Amino acid sequence: MLPDDSSNLEFSPEEMRQMGRSVLERAIRHIESLPTQPACGDLNADELCRALVEPPPESGVALEPLLDSLFGEWIPRSATAAGPGYLAYIPGGGLFPAALADLISNTTNRYTGLRHVAPALVQLESNVLDWLRDWMLFPPTTRGLLTVGGSMSIFNAIVCARERHLGPNLRNGVLYTSSQAHHSVAKSARLAGILHDRVKVVDIDEHFRLRIDSLEHAIHDDRRHGLVPFMVVSSAGTTNTGAVDPLDPISDLCARDELWHHIDGAYGAFFHLCDELRPLLSGLPRADSLTLDPHKGLFLPYGTGALLVRDGKALRAVNQGTGSYMPSRSGSDEFYDPSQYGPDLTRGFPGLRVWLTVQLLGVKRLKAALLEKRRLAVEAAGRVAAIPGIVIDAPPQLSLFAFHLTWPGATLDKENLATRQLMTGVTARGRVMLTGAMVGERYLGRVCVLSFRTHQERVDACVEDIRDVAATLIGA
Ligand SMILES: *Cc1c(COP(=O)(O)O)cnc(C)c1O
Repeated sequence: MLPDDSSNLEFSPEEMRQMGRSVLERAIRHIESLPTQPACGDLNADELCRALVEPPPESGVALEPLLDSLFGEWIPRSATAAGPGYLAYIPGGGLFPAALADLISNTTNRYTGLRHVAPALVQLESNVLDWLRDWMLFPPTTRGLLTVGGSMSIFNAIVCARERHLGPNLRNGVLYTSSQAHHSVAKSARLAGILHDRVKVVDIDEHFRLRIDSLEHAIHDDRRHGLVPFMVVSSAGTTNTGAVDPLDPISDLCARDELWHHIDGAYGAFFHLCDELRPLLSGLPRADSLTLDPHKGLFLPYGTGALLVRDGKALRAVNQGTGSYMPSRSGSDEFYDPSQYGPDLTRGFPGLRVWLTVQLLGVKRLKAALLEKRRLAVEAAGRVAAIPGIVIDAPPQLSLFAFHLTWPGATLDKENLATRQLMTGVTARGRVMLTGAMVGERYLGRVCVLSFRTHQERVDACVEDIRDVAATLIGA
């Protein structure tokens, strides 16, 4: 053992092996236990959090007790987002190869912000972006960016559109999106300098999709008042109900009126991988830019989002930069260079997580998994629809459906309360975790099947629990 104040920070090869084995063993045991863990751990942890506040240790402590606390106490105090019963929010699961990729990235610690210091590694990331481009049927002019998530993807897209269409005159620029758009759209607009009163919320139709007539009307109205409509953000699968906006007509309108069309495909875009499902996302390849979230629809662990920009030059124009200490770069854009296409300079190596995962599984298996999730959701929605008291508000357009409870004489308030209780009651049973959403005045229950670990038996359990809990609630 080295003395506490030794300046040597390296661990010995034997220590590293032992620590690595111990972590790996616990992680694998954790994955093995996922099917039997409650779908939602105990989230009432304020007392625990207060007790956890601590100064950093002056002297290092042993790994094992820390792992005991992590795996035994702290990880269980969370929603079991990696488990098969996670049908809440938008699941993904977290494929194992990405964890191996992170271990490789972090132990080799190569610098992938600049292509010339790790050209082959950056090429792997470039390949990943090309794969995304091809799956989405975007043209060769496309450039993209791996981000930490969909929120940063939308942010970068808004900056591209703003620079292209508004230049220095931001104040009158107007962005349009539907009332069902993810809240990251308004947040990203604000971060990108588009103020709150310039984000216009467009009405939705009875299927929760943006209404093209309302959009057209709003654009023309704003033009008449001297404003500058510059961007529409549509959804390829909303978080609340899974609605896919009319992407083709929106692209037509944007082309005619010279607006930037961004599609938020954070939840839905990966279904475009499957030929059979492409008609559900008709028009998606026409967007000026597209958000994808590999940590949802490609089942990766959290921390990987992606953006594609049809005219790659627009993405480069807002991001390129250099410092006097950096080697001069060639003007050629044959090769991808991450820091010239995104806001980060020093960064991790997100490309390897996607690359290694796709290499180990192959595209066919990923497609099969996506098809399975869609099929499970469609079947489950059919069976949930047959449960007494359930009204399906949104059948699955992709792999998410939404519904509410009703009974003779029920008021909206009572239905909302009962539907809320349905979500918590089902979750309390421990087999699946469900969450709902307010859509207008109505609270909708929802089921989203997108974890790669969710298979038939878990969806059966979900339908069974909804049926049992609903029976105790209607008319109560
Ligand atoms: C998850 C989600 C986002 C936000 O993406 P993050 O990866 O959470 O930042 C945006 N839009 C939709 C439709 C989403 O489902």
